[in-house]
Amino acid sequence: MNKVTTDVLIVGGGPAGMSAAVAASGNDDVRITVVDDNPRIGGQIWRAELGKLKSVEALELLALLDQQWITLVNNASVFSNDGSSVLAETPSGRIQIEYKSLILATGARERLLPFPGWTLPNVLGAAGLQALVKGGLDVQDKRIVVAGTGPLLLVAAEYLTSKGARIVAICEQTTNKKLDRFALGLWRSPSKIVQGISLRSKLRGIPYYRNAWVTKADLQSVTIQHFGQTTDIECDMFACGFHLVPNIELAQLLGCEVADGFVSVDDYQQTSISDVYCAGEPTSIGGVEAAVVEGKIAGFAATGQIIEANSLFRARKKTTAFAKALDQAFELRDELKTLAASSTIVCRCEDVQYGKLTDHDDFRMAKLQTRCGMGACQGRICGAAVEFLFGWKDRSVRPPIFPVKMENL
Ligand SMILES: Cc1cc2nc3c(=O)[nH]c(=O)nc-3n(C[C@H](O)[C@H](O)[C@H](O)COP(=O)(O)OP(=O)(O)OC[C@H]3O[C@@H](n4cnc5c(N)ncnc54)[C@H](O)[C@@H]3O)c2cc1C
Repeated sequence: MNKVTTDVLIVGGGPAGMSAAVAASGNDDVRITVVDDNPRIGGQIWRAELGKLKSVEALELLALLDQQWITLVNNASVFSNDGSSVLAETPSGRIQIEYKSLILATGARERLLPFPGWTLPNVLGAAGLQALVKGGLDVQDKRIVVAGTGPLLLVAAEYLTSKGARIVAICEQTTNKKLDRFALGLWRSPSKIVQGISLRSKLRGIPYYRNAWVTKADLQSVTIQHFGQTTDIECDMFACGFHLVPNIELAQLLGCEVADGFVSVDDYQQTSISDVYCAGEPTSIGGVEAAVVEGKIAGFAATGQIIEANSLFRARKKTTAFAKALDQAFELRDELKTLAASSTIVCRCEDVQYGKLTDHDDFRMAKLQTRCGMGACQGRICGAAVEFLFGWKDRSVRPPIFPVKMENL
């Protein structure tokens, strides 16, 4: 096993992790290591498209990372911890990384909810489909319905359109009232207004339904519920995502305090554990600006640059308010709890149907009796779904938090 020692270890190479690394490098005396499980740095939003980063902000950060001799370890999944070190699996085996300070910037994943047909081929997460296209999947001339909730639907639809797809409808589950209130609240963030207007203008002509949600999908069409009416929309692909779920498993494994599903942090992004910081989506779902500002604060604070960290508190106040507004605007409606039929699969790793779960009172019993959440993804997908459907919370995180080869355990 390889052993590496560093002063500041950053887990996650998205906007939060990259910003944290650059901020930390303001202190010349520290060695910084960034570990990410993807082949390239950039995280979800800046994920390199066929190997090429396109965002100017991302390219600038990458250039700074290069200049500062920050060690980047790609293709490495941190799966466990051991005192003041973590264990990561890489294609060439296991590495142990010892640190003095740790910054968790592990991002978020898409929330998927079960409905009849959600496991069929060509039914994908909205952001997931976008990621596949960035990786080379061809969607030229494909008719795609995009549905679910949150601003990512528009981002995904615009991206898919730019790659030649024909978006036949966008269906947003939230109400007119909540969407209007959200739009009005954007006056505090002019950049978001510009982004919103630009997205809507690129999507002009595509039917956008509010108060609309999927009830089932088959291989040729999806059925949408809209103001009490059901409508079938023909399509080749269905992209459906219900906002994001924070990746907090590593923080939980380390014993960091979690409240309402997010890692609790203080003003300096420090968690309940001394010298363990957290930034970006695990602390709140606030988009790229929030990830960048929190990453910087964490990077400065972890390396004793307190004045620099303090100077960003005002900027963070704005992004925190935006995250709260997102949460309220795109809260999931109760009707989505009734979509799954008894035979609808909820845990797709272990093929557990909805009807097999309704007899249980909590996730633990359901796990023991049905193996729900015990497959390869370890409940990363169905955990968020059962929390919404049944109110079950799963706090039992054990290593390895990702599946790893036996030889690396
Ligand atoms: C699939 C998806 C697509 C998205 N696309 C867009 C988009 O196009 N536009 C937009 O505005 N927003 C998008 N978002 C939202 C976006 O995630 C945030 O706006 C922003 O990127 C958050 O930055 P972050 O650094 O907090 O997290 P991320 O960008 O998610 O970065 C976290 C990184 O940590 C890595 N990681 C996590 N756990 C471990 C571990 N244990 N070991 C090693 N590495 C680990 C992850 O693989 C990831 O690379 C997307 C979100 C998702 C889930």
